[in-house]
Amino acid sequence: MAVGKEILTWYEGAWHEGSAPIITASDHAAWLGSTVFDGARQFEGVRPDLDLHSARIIRSAEAMGMIPPVDAATVQGLMEEGCARFGVDRVLYLRPMMWSRDSAPGIIDVVPENTGFSICIEALDMPAPGGFSLTVSPFCRPRPDMAVTEAKAGALYANNARIMADARKRGFSNALSLDVEGFVAETASTNVFMVRDGVVFTPVPNGMFLNGITRQRIIGLLRADGVEVIEASLTLEDFESAEEIFVTGNIAKVMPVARYKDRDMGAPRMGQRARDLYWDYALSGGETVEAVRKSAGAL
Ligand code: PMP
Repeated sequence: MAVGKEILTWYEGAWHEGSAPIITASDHAAWLGSTVFDGARQFEGVRPDLDLHSARIIRSAEAMGMIPPVDAATVQGLMEEGCARFGVDRVLYLRPMMWSRDSAPGIIDVVPENTGFSICIEALDMPAPGGFSLTVSPFCRPRPDMAVTEAKAGALYANNARIMADARKRGFSNALSLDVEGFVAETASTNVFMVRDGVVFTPVPNGMFLNGITRQRIIGLLRADGVEVIEASLTLEDFESAEEIFVTGNIAKVMPVARYKDRDMGAPRMGQRARDLYWDYALSGGETVEAVRKSAGAL
Protein backbone atom coordinates (compact mmCIF):
# COMPACT_ATOMS: atom_id res chain seq x y z
CA MET A 1 0.00 0.00 0.00
CA ALA A 2 1.22 3.44 -0.83
CA VAL A 3 0.96 6.73 1.02
CA GLY A 4 0.53 8.72 -2.18
CA LYS A 5 -1.53 7.95 -5.26
CA GLU A 6 1.11 8.78 -7.85
CA ILE A 7 4.21 6.64 -7.63
CA LEU A 8 7.32 6.00 -9.68
CA THR A 9 9.72 3.16 -8.85
CA TRP A 10 13.35 2.72 -9.88
CA TYR A 11 14.29 -0.94 -9.87
CA GLU A 12 16.82 -3.04 -11.80
CA GLY A 13 17.95 -0.29 -14.14
CA ALA A 14 14.58 1.16 -15.16
CA TRP A 15 11.75 3.41 -14.01
CA HIS A 16 8.39 1.73 -13.51
CA GLU A 17 5.02 3.45 -13.19
CA GLY A 18 3.39 2.76 -9.84
CA SER A 19 4.49 0.75 -6.82
CA ALA A 20 6.55 -1.95 -8.51
CA PRO A 21 7.24 -5.32 -6.81
CA ILE A 22 10.84 -5.39 -5.58
CA ILE A 23 11.21 -8.01 -2.81
CA THR A 24 10.72 -11.76 -3.23
CA ALA A 25 9.66 -14.36 -0.68
CA SER A 26 13.17 -15.65 0.00
CA ASP A 27 14.77 -12.19 0.28
CA HIS A 28 16.41 -11.67 3.67
CA ALA A 29 14.45 -8.44 3.97
CA ALA A 30 11.10 -10.17 3.51
CA TRP A 31 11.40 -12.29 6.65
CA LEU A 32 14.36 -10.92 8.61
CA GLY A 33 13.76 -7.20 8.15
CA SER A 34 17.04 -5.96 6.67
CA THR A 35 15.63 -2.94 4.82
CA VAL A 36 17.26 0.46 5.17
CA PHE A 37 15.82 3.61 3.65
CA ASP A 38 16.11 7.35 3.53
CA GLY A 39 13.63 10.10 2.86
CA ALA A 40 14.13 13.36 0.96
CA ARG A 41 11.80 15.93 -0.53
CA GLN A 42 11.15 17.99 -3.61
CA PHE A 43 8.97 21.06 -3.03
CA GLU A 44 8.75 24.53 -4.56
CA GLY A 45 11.32 23.45 -7.12
CA VAL A 46 14.07 22.54 -4.62
CA ARG A 47 15.45 19.34 -3.10
CA PRO A 48 17.29 20.47 0.04
CA ASP A 49 20.17 18.33 1.31
CA LEU A 50 19.64 15.65 -1.30
CA ASP A 51 23.37 14.92 -1.14
CA LEU A 52 23.20 14.27 2.61
CA HIS A 53 20.17 11.99 2.29
CA SER A 54 21.93 10.10 -0.52
CA ALA A 55 25.05 9.67 1.59
CA ARG A 56 23.08 8.51 4.63
CA ILE A 57 21.47 5.52 2.93
CA ILE A 58 24.96 4.28 2.02
CA ARG A 59 26.00 4.55 5.69
CA SER A 60 22.79 2.83 6.80
CA ALA A 61 23.34 -0.12 4.44
CA GLU A 62 26.93 -0.47 5.63
CA ALA A 63 25.87 -0.34 9.28
CA MET A 64 23.62 -3.32 8.56
CA GLY A 65 26.54 -5.27 7.06
CA MET A 66 25.50 -4.79 3.44
CA ILE A 67 27.65 -3.61 0.54
CA PRO A 68 25.67 -0.89 -1.27
CA PRO A 69 25.35 -1.77 -4.98
CA VAL A 70 25.56 1.94 -5.97
CA ASP A 71 27.30 4.99 -4.52
CA ALA A 72 25.78 8.16 -3.06
CA ALA A 73 26.25 10.16 -6.27
CA THR A 74 24.31 7.52 -8.22
CA VAL A 75 21.50 7.52 -5.65
CA GLN A 76 21.32 11.30 -5.88
CA GLY A 77 21.45 11.34 -9.71
CA LEU A 78 18.64 8.81 -9.96
CA MET A 79 16.47 10.73 -7.51
CA GLU A 80 17.01 13.87 -9.61
CA GLU A 81 16.11 11.89 -12.74
CA GLY A 82 12.91 10.60 -11.13
CA CYS A 83 11.96 14.11 -10.02
CA ALA A 84 12.43 15.36 -13.58
CA ARG A 85 9.98 12.72 -14.76
CA PHE A 86 7.36 14.04 -12.35
CA GLY A 87 8.17 17.69 -13.05
CA VAL A 88 10.02 20.26 -10.96
CA ASP A 89 6.77 21.87 -9.75
CA ARG A 90 5.51 18.71 -8.02
CA VAL A 91 5.67 18.11 -4.26
CA LEU A 92 7.40 14.76 -3.85
CA TYR A 93 8.63 12.29 -1.26
CA LEU A 94 11.84 10.56 -2.41
CA ARG A 95 12.70 7.27 -0.76
CA PRO A 96 15.79 5.27 -1.70
CA MET A 97 15.83 1.78 -0.19
CA MET A 98 18.37 -1.03 0.13
CA TRP A 99 17.88 -4.50 1.52
CA SER A 100 19.57 -7.87 1.76
CA ARG A 101 18.44 -10.48 -0.75
CA ASP A 102 19.82 -14.01 -0.47
CA SER A 103 18.90 -15.77 2.70
CA ALA A 104 19.33 -19.28 3.98
CA PRO A 105 17.01 -20.81 6.60
CA GLY A 106 18.96 -21.24 9.82
CA ILE A 107 21.56 -18.62 8.87
CA ILE A 108 20.44 -15.13 9.68
CA ASP A 109 23.43 -12.97 8.77
CA VAL A 110 23.25 -10.95 5.55
CA VAL A 111 25.24 -11.75 2.41
CA PRO A 112 27.06 -8.43 2.04
CA GLU A 113 27.41 -8.50 -1.75
CA ASN A 114 23.78 -9.33 -2.41
CA THR A 115 22.03 -6.04 -1.75
CA GLY A 116 18.87 -4.90 -3.49
CA PHE A 117 18.31 -1.24 -4.40
CA SER A 118 15.23 0.69 -5.33
CA ILE A 119 13.91 4.24 -5.26
CA CYS A 120 10.26 4.99 -4.67
CA ILE A 121 9.03 8.51 -5.49
CA GLU A 122 5.54 9.49 -4.38
CA ALA A 123 3.51 12.67 -4.81
CA LEU A 124 2.95 13.85 -1.24
CA ASP A 125 1.88 17.32 -0.08
CA MET A 126 3.69 19.14 2.72
CA PRO A 127 1.61 18.94 5.90
CA ALA A 128 0.32 22.37 6.99
CA PRO A 129 1.20 23.58 10.48
CA GLY A 130 -1.52 24.27 12.99
CA GLY A 131 -2.98 21.05 14.33
CA PHE A 132 0.05 19.03 15.40
CA SER A 133 -0.26 17.51 18.88
CA LEU A 134 2.20 15.59 21.00
CA THR A 135 1.88 13.26 23.97
CA VAL A 136 4.38 11.04 25.82
CA SER A 137 4.83 7.43 24.78
CA PRO A 138 5.04 4.46 27.15
CA PHE A 139 7.53 2.89 24.70
CA CYS A 140 11.22 3.80 24.80
CA ARG A 141 14.16 3.79 22.39
CA PRO A 142 16.95 1.20 22.38
CA ARG A 143 20.66 1.75 23.00
CA PRO A 144 23.15 1.00 20.19
CA ASP A 145 24.02 -2.29 21.96
CA MET A 146 20.36 -3.34 21.74
CA ALA A 147 19.56 -2.53 18.10
CA VAL A 148 21.33 -1.19 15.01
CA THR A 149 20.44 2.38 15.86
CA GLU A 150 23.16 3.87 13.65
CA ALA A 151 21.21 2.73 10.56
CA LYS A 152 17.96 4.22 9.35
CA ALA A 153 16.66 0.68 9.35
CA GLY A 154 13.10 -0.41 8.67
CA ALA A 155 13.39 -2.84 11.59
CA LEU A 156 13.62 0.07 14.07
CA TYR A 157 10.25 1.33 12.86
CA ALA A 158 8.33 -1.59 14.38
CA ASN A 159 8.88 0.22 17.69
CA ASN A 160 8.21 3.66 16.16
CA ALA A 161 5.00 2.34 14.60
CA ARG A 162 3.61 1.31 17.97
CA ILE A 163 4.68 4.67 19.47
CA MET A 164 2.69 6.39 16.70
CA ALA A 165 -0.30 4.01 16.87
CA ASP A 166 -0.60 4.42 20.64
CA ALA A 167 -0.42 8.23 20.32
CA ARG A 168 -3.07 8.32 17.61
CA LYS A 169 -5.34 6.00 19.59
CA ARG A 170 -5.17 8.58 22.38
CA GLY A 171 -6.03 11.44 19.99
CA PHE A 172 -2.53 12.85 19.36
CA SER A 173 -0.50 13.24 16.18
CA ASN A 174 2.70 11.78 17.65
CA ALA A 175 4.53 11.18 20.92
CA LEU A 176 7.81 11.92 22.65
CA SER A 177 9.65 8.72 23.51
CA LEU A 178 12.38 8.39 26.09
CA ASP A 179 15.67 6.57 25.73
CA VAL A 180 16.46 3.74 28.11
CA GLU A 181 18.23 6.18 30.43
CA GLY A 182 15.03 8.22 30.82
CA PHE A 183 15.96 11.20 28.67
CA VAL A 184 13.75 12.51 25.85
CA ALA A 185 14.94 11.00 22.56
CA GLU A 186 12.63 12.00 19.69
CA THR A 187 9.14 11.27 18.38
CA ALA A 188 8.18 8.27 16.26
CA SER A 189 9.16 10.14 13.10
CA THR A 190 10.94 13.40 13.95
CA ASN A 191 13.51 15.09 16.13
CA VAL A 192 12.30 17.48 18.79
CA PHE A 193 13.21 20.98 20.02
CA MET A 194 11.90 23.02 22.94
CA VAL A 195 12.20 26.71 23.83
CA ARG A 196 12.70 28.32 27.24
CA ASP A 197 13.51 32.01 27.83
CA GLY A 198 14.35 32.47 24.16
CA VAL A 199 16.91 29.64 24.20
CA VAL A 200 16.35 26.57 22.04
CA PHE A 201 17.12 23.13 23.50
CA THR A 202 17.26 19.78 21.75
CA PRO A 203 18.39 16.30 22.90
CA VAL A 204 22.13 15.74 22.49
CA PRO A 205 22.88 12.82 20.15
CA ASN A 206 23.63 9.71 22.22
CA GLY A 207 23.05 6.92 19.71
CA MET A 208 19.48 6.38 20.86
CA PHE A 209 17.75 8.55 18.26
CA LEU A 210 18.36 9.58 14.68
CA ASN A 211 20.56 12.67 14.50
CA GLY A 212 18.40 13.97 11.68
CA ILE A 213 19.61 15.92 8.70
CA THR A 214 16.84 18.50 9.22
CA ARG A 215 17.74 18.70 12.92
CA GLN A 216 21.36 19.52 12.13
CA ARG A 217 20.32 21.98 9.45
CA ILE A 218 17.94 23.80 11.82
CA ILE A 219 20.57 24.00 14.56
CA GLY A 220 22.96 25.61 12.08
CA LEU A 221 20.37 28.01 10.67
CA LEU A 222 19.16 29.17 14.10
CA ARG A 223 22.71 29.71 15.36
CA ALA A 224 23.62 31.59 12.19
CA ASP A 225 20.57 33.79 12.89
CA GLY A 226 21.80 34.57 16.41
CA VAL A 227 19.68 32.13 18.41
CA GLU A 228 21.33 30.18 21.22
CA VAL A 229 20.81 26.45 20.65
CA ILE A 230 21.84 24.01 23.38
CA GLU A 231 22.15 20.26 22.83
CA ALA A 232 21.61 18.59 26.19
CA SER A 233 20.14 15.60 27.99
CA LEU A 234 16.52 16.69 28.45
CA THR A 235 13.87 15.23 30.74
CA LEU A 236 10.09 15.32 30.59
CA GLU A 237 10.30 17.91 33.37
CA ASP A 238 12.14 20.19 30.95
CA PHE A 239 9.32 19.78 28.45
CA GLU A 240 6.76 20.63 31.17
CA SER A 241 8.35 24.07 31.41
CA ALA A 242 8.80 24.53 27.67
CA GLU A 243 7.27 27.69 26.26
CA GLU A 244 7.30 26.18 22.81
CA ILE A 245 7.99 22.83 21.20
CA PHE A 246 8.63 22.08 17.55
CA VAL A 247 9.68 18.99 15.65
CA THR A 248 11.90 18.59 12.60
CA GLY A 249 12.09 15.91 9.93
CA ASN A 250 12.12 15.38 6.24
CA ILE A 251 8.38 15.07 5.70
CA ALA A 252 7.27 18.48 7.05
CA LYS A 253 10.72 20.02 7.73
CA VAL A 254 9.68 22.14 10.74
CA MET A 255 6.36 21.58 12.49
CA PRO A 256 5.33 23.61 15.57
CA VAL A 257 3.54 21.65 18.29
CA ALA A 258 0.11 23.22 18.84
CA ARG A 259 -0.82 21.02 21.82
CA TYR A 260 1.48 19.18 24.24
CA LYS A 261 -0.48 16.70 26.34
CA ASP A 262 -3.40 18.83 27.65
CA ARG A 263 -1.62 22.16 27.13
CA ASP A 264 -2.36 24.59 24.30
CA MET A 265 1.09 25.85 23.29
CA GLY A 266 0.02 29.22 21.87
CA ALA A 267 1.71 31.10 19.02
CA PRO A 268 4.81 29.31 17.69
CA ARG A 269 7.21 32.23 17.49
CA MET A 270 10.49 30.28 17.44
CA GLY A 271 8.89 27.43 15.51
CA GLN A 272 7.80 29.86 12.82
CA ARG A 273 11.25 31.51 12.80
CA ALA A 274 12.89 28.10 12.33
CA ARG A 275 10.42 27.27 9.60
CA ASP A 276 11.04 30.57 7.79
CA LEU A 277 14.81 30.10 8.06
CA TYR A 278 14.52 26.60 6.62
CA TRP A 279 12.41 27.78 3.69
CA ASP A 280 14.81 30.68 3.02
CA TYR A 281 17.70 28.23 3.06
CA ALA A 282 15.93 25.71 0.83
CA LEU A 283 14.67 28.24 -1.70
CA SER A 284 18.08 29.90 -1.92
CA GLY A 285 19.30 26.62 -3.38
CA GLY A 286 21.53 25.91 -0.42
CA GLU A 287 23.86 28.80 -1.21
CA THR A 288 24.40 29.32 2.49
CA VAL A 289 25.51 25.73 3.02
CA GLU A 290 29.07 26.60 3.95
CA ALA A 291 28.05 29.24 6.47
CA VAL A 292 25.56 26.84 7.99
CA ARG A 293 28.09 24.03 8.14
CA LYS A 294 30.56 26.23 9.94
CA SER A 295 28.04 27.39 12.46
CA ALA A 296 26.54 23.92 13.09
CA GLY A 297 29.95 22.29 13.25
CA ALA A 298 28.09 19.06 12.70
CA LEU A 299 27.18 18.36 9.10
N1 PMP B 1 13.70 10.59 13.75
C1 PMP B 1 13.01 9.63 13.11
C2 PMP B 1 12.61 8.42 13.87
C3 PMP B 1 12.68 9.76 11.76
O1 PMP B 1 12.01 8.79 11.12
C4 PMP B 1 13.06 10.94 11.08
C5 PMP B 1 12.69 11.12 9.64
N2 PMP B 1 13.68 10.62 8.80
C6 PMP B 1 13.77 11.91 11.79
C7 PMP B 1 14.07 11.71 13.13
C8 PMP B 1 14.23 13.17 11.11
O2 PMP B 1 15.33 12.88 10.29
P1 PMP B 1 15.67 13.73 9.00
O3 PMP B 1 15.63 15.14 9.40
O4 PMP B 1 17.02 13.27 8.63
O5 PMP B 1 14.61 13.41 8.00
